[in-house]
Amino acid sequence: MSDHVLVINAGSSSLKYSLVEARTGEAAASGLAERIGERQGRHLHRGPDGETETTRSIPGHEDALRLAIGAFESHGPSLDGLDLAAVGHRVVHGGSRFSASALIDDALVAEVTELVPLAPLHNPANLEGIRVARRLFPNLPQVAVFDTAFHQSLPPQAYTYAVPLAWLEDHGIRRYGFHGTSHAFVSQETARLLERDPAETNTIVLHLGNGCSASAVRGGRSVETSMGLTPLEGLVMGTRSGDLDPAIPAYLMREVGLSAEDIDLALNSASGLKGLAGENDFRELERLRASGDEHAGLAFDVYCHRIRKYVGAYYAVLETVDAVVFTAGVGEHSAEVRATSLNGLERLGICIDNDRNNEPATGARRISTDDSEVAVFVVPTNEEWQIAREALGVVLA
Ligand code: AMP
Repeated sequence: MSDHVLVINAGSSSLKYSLVEARTGEAAASGLAERIGERQGRHLHRGPDGETETTRSIPGHEDALRLAIGAFESHGPSLDGLDLAAVGHRVVHGGSRFSASALIDDALVAEVTELVPLAPLHNPANLEGIRVARRLFPNLPQVAVFDTAFHQSLPPQAYTYAVPLAWLEDHGIRRYGFHGTSHAFVSQETARLLERDPAETNTIVLHLGNGCSASAVRGGRSVETSMGLTPLEGLVMGTRSGDLDPAIPAYLMREVGLSAEDIDLALNSASGLKGLAGENDFRELERLRASGDEHAGLAFDVYCHRIRKYVGAYYAVLETVDAVVFTAGVGEHSAEVRATSLNGLERLGICIDNDRNNEPATGARRISTDDSEVAVFVVPTNEEWQIAREALGVVLA
């Protein structure tokens, strides 16, 4: 058996895959089938001989995975010759039942199916990916890696909402947290960069992508995180509102006549940066802001203010902070977000070095001054590698 894992991330109309060497993180090939179920789909495969793109109808996820397997055959590397260790699946919601990655069997599929009401957009697509991969790779171990699992270490005071206790006991209303594979990967990388044992490192991780979340990681374990029952709570995101007064939905239903579905859709798809400035792509938002667009300026300020509030809150939760880390599209690339979110926090021991922060580098790097008590890092996230090594860990256990 090799250390290669085929990582699959199935969305409702897309299937992303990556062939990862689990010990080194090297991605030998990757690809994406998108617009599944639409008249014209697209398949992109990146292999040893570069990129190949085809446009054609992709009726379902099984067709998408067959296209991927075909591309491995024609453009390499051949899966047959590789002796894969496992297929690793990203699964968004594992509820309270999964605090670690797990081997997929019929019982696990049934449990993830029961969790569909908690993640109605994501879990069905993840299950579809699992179903077709089990069919097309019947002899390989398949492992589920949950977005929620890393945050199962939250203590009760962090995961409990102050609502009637029966809501928790009868309906599972609590904080679960998401982006767990990214928070796990980035906090481990940070300990490595600090040359410290993860078990002795306290980190605030800021995952700022299309979706955004913060976490407080004490000794390698997540103790607080900003997303909640669903990925809507917390930081301002591309199209999601993040935190708001919980009375707002009822107010809008009563006074404006909006339905629960209208509000759900607005808060998930038409809020955040898009709601305030009409633009959810951060690069576009920065361009608008630079041209003097007032709404883009306000959206940027609200976005950074929310990050700053969470940094302060998580600082208090952790008591001692070794590092603040930025990751994902915006966190890795926007020096201005990093500076605006953390400026003036010298009394907390957080001192950004402006030259380091503004350097147009791409790898993991320290952007705080040498004498900053709290180190500030940019660490590119690598969820595929984390899924691959977790999958290999399960197979070898
Ligand atoms: P992700 O979900 O991690 O892929 O992040 C997507 C977000 O990162 C989008 O809002 C992008 O506009 C943003 N992003 C990507 N590259 C850059 C960049 N160079 N500068 C600012 N934002 C970026």
